[in-house]
Amino acid sequence: MCIRRSWSVREGYMSPTIFRKVVDELERYPELGEINISGFGEPLLHGNFLDFLYYIRRKLKDCKITIITNATLIKNLMERMYSYIDKLCVSIDSFNPKRLESIRRGLNYRDTMETLEMISKFKRLGGFQFLLATVVTRDNIGEMVEYLRRACQFNVDEVFVTNIIAYSRENYERRVYTTIPEELFPILKDIGLVGDFIKRGEYDRLFNLIECYAKSCSLPISRLNIIGLLEELNYVKWMQYALEVFDLVCGIAREEGVTVRVPLFHSRLDFRRCPYIEDEVFVIRWDGRVYPCLLLMYSHLEYVNAHSKYYYEYSLGSLVDSRLDKILNGSKYLRLKNTLTNIVKQVPTCNNCPFAYTGCIFVKDNILDCLGNTPSCSECLYSYGIVQCP
Ligand code: SF4
Ligand code: SF4
Repeated sequence: MCIRRSWSVREGYMSPTIFRKVVDELERYPELGEINISGFGEPLLHGNFLDFLYYIRRKLKDCKITIITNATLIKNLMERMYSYIDKLCVSIDSFNPKRLESIRRGLNYRDTMETLEMISKFKRLGGFQFLLATVVTRDNIGEMVEYLRRACQFNVDEVFVTNIIAYSRENYERRVYTTIPEELFPILKDIGLVGDFIKRGEYDRLFNLIECYAKSCSLPISRLNIIGLLEELNYVKWMQYALEVFDLVCGIAREEGVTVRVPLFHSRLDFRRCPYIEDEVFVIRWDGRVYPCLLLMYSHLEYVNAHSKYYYEYSLGSLVDSRLDKILNGSKYLRLKNTLTNIVKQVPTCNNCPFAYTGCIFVKDNILDCLGNTPSCSECLYSYGIVQCP
């Protein structure tokens, strides 16, 4: 499930020199609301973690500090860190002992439950927000009601749910979302007919049916991605199941007074937003390089819209040899911001384009899209609201 099992990139730990440079640069931004210590790695593994935490607290007094961790190493650190943090988010994908131990190899279920109990006690002392985060797939969707109940026992403030970014074909097939826009769903009741027309080669009748649907959805025929819809039928069923499950989960959560943040399980033609650009968030990697978002932080392979796609990292510059204000005001970032603040109009909707399912050359990587944007954000699950970050 983790990107680290599929990438081949240079890994490392942030050096104290780079770390101090990062924080000293951030100090110039008194309006900075939150610093989130996380990424595609376990922050508590860093040998200088506590020193770094104290340094941030000293330098960025009014800034909230969030830590996302798998909590395997937190036991011995909690006492020395709890009063310095504002939000602690523990990633845990299941409360089923076997499932949890198979997802997080090397982890012991009983230890993990004791750790959550301990965090809950420190929460009462320290007043930080306590979140549990899970990636929902076919494997654990059936236990989401139980997950919420267990989360409530640990006195959490929020259960955070996201869909999976598939770094392998196998994970792609375990998803419970579809990228097909909901505007196409009315066609589902006649989808058998569509299949029959295709099988029998009755293309005139097929065209008439599609034209009829295009009119009723007020969409041009080119925007009815029938090929994608046929390809995604199985996932549409899982999406419907996911909607039912989370309807129930959110109802129970309301009664319990716990927030549940649920992603979308399908896309919408009128909704796309880059959460990083809109919420003024950027990412700094261990080596001091600055990126617009997590997705563009490391080169990697991903599976989306029935094909594989290679994402090249897209660095905005490095804090090793540049200043943060220069990087954030540089033409690279400004151009990207300009495009993404109007993403619905300026970035193509590949999720609703039949060519994405039939070999479009643009979707093989994120270098360029058919409107000339580079990098291409046209298949970004964050922008569809299907994947989210705590
Ligand atoms: S749209 Fe997606 S890929 Fe593009 S900057 Fe935003 S989060 Fe990153
Ligand atoms: S990039 Fe290709 S798949 Fe995406 S909208 Fe353009 S033509 Fe369609």
